[in-house]
Amino acid sequence: MKSPLPIPAALTGVDALEDLGLVAPGDRDALEAVAAEFRVRITPVMAGLASAGVRAQFVPDARELAVRPEELADPIGDDAHRPVPGLTHRYPDRAILHATQTCEVYCRFCFRRETVGETGTLAEAEFDRVVDYLRSHPAVREVIFTGGDPLVLSARRLGAMLDRLEAVESLESVRFHTRVPVVAPEKVTGALAAALDRALPVWVVVHANHADEITEAAAAALRRLNRAGVPLLSQTVLLKGVNADPDTLEALFRKLIRNRVKPYYLHHPDLAKGTGHFRLTLAEGQAIMASLRGRLTGIAQPLYVLDIPGGHGKVPVGPGYLRREGEGWVVTDPQGAEHRYRDL
Ligand SMILES: *Cc1c(COP(=O)(O)O)cnc(C)c1O
Ligand code: SF4
Repeated sequence: MKSPLPIPAALTGVDALEDLGLVAPGDRDALEAVAAEFRVRITPVMAGLASAGVRAQFVPDARELAVRPEELADPIGDDAHRPVPGLTHRYPDRAILHATQTCEVYCRFCFRRETVGETGTLAEAEFDRVVDYLRSHPAVREVIFTGGDPLVLSARRLGAMLDRLEAVESLESVRFHTRVPVVAPEKVTGALAAALDRALPVWVVVHANHADEITEAAAAALRRLNRAGVPLLSQTVLLKGVNADPDTLEALFRKLIRNRVKPYYLHHPDLAKGTGHFRLTLAEGQAIMASLRGRLTGIAQPLYVLDIPGGHGKVPVGPGYLRREGEGWVVTDPQGAEHRYRDL
């Protein structure tokens, strides 16, 4: 599956894509328009994979110019709960820290596609305000680094930020949501793993959407994190043209388990602008999840969730196995047969 020539640097424009034969003749003008609207960046590791499920995530598509009326600039309402710059505090016990807006890749379906890449790294003075906020809000037990992609920051800078957070006594854990171990595994250096290996537990949630993304280099990066005592979880976005069928997801979830990563969330795609060609219905998503139940080990089953547009939070969206009937319930088993159940 590897391309014959190593790709030396990240691809960031239509010219570079064309050189690699990733632009269909006649698409050039449309793709220039897409690239002007939504940033393009593909790491050498990902550009070197010929897998259609991987390419569709990163190579721009003329269909991104089609914005549907229901699509939103801030589909999950990050901006609705922002007490200080860089922090989103929606749930009482945890807050999201936007440490940087930069990513190693710009995913074509990204729910933050209108903010990524723009504003750089959180300034030192802004981080001071975040720490002050956390000190004065001890109900916050967990800080979740996201972005952008927080693991684009240097090991030194991350270590310094974690030192400050470790001194906030109310914090019980820190979490990173990142694509770096998969899309730029060489960035998970020994120094980075060491920076995450500390008394305050650091959890890493790896964003992975297709088994082909998990190269040998990615597996080695995950192992470095695992050896540093970092528990590994994954999140996956359900995407038409990438992974929206049971076999593709089963292969991904098994490969994650094989690499000591526990599948955590399967996200229904958000209403981000120009991403309609990736979306499927909730009923289709539920049918995929139902077919994995029973045939795939329980530890490889993520929770299928929807982030309710407008900042109302994430909720599981099924499939459901239970309905009321008379005084009791009817429960559906993994094969689809129904059984009566009386709880009282
Ligand atoms: C997704 C999200 C979280 C984390 O939710 P978990 O269910 O704990 O993974 C926290 N805050 C915000 C604003 C979120 O969107
Ligand atoms: S790495 Fe994450 S934040 Fe960055 S473009 Fe991809 S999905 Fe969006």
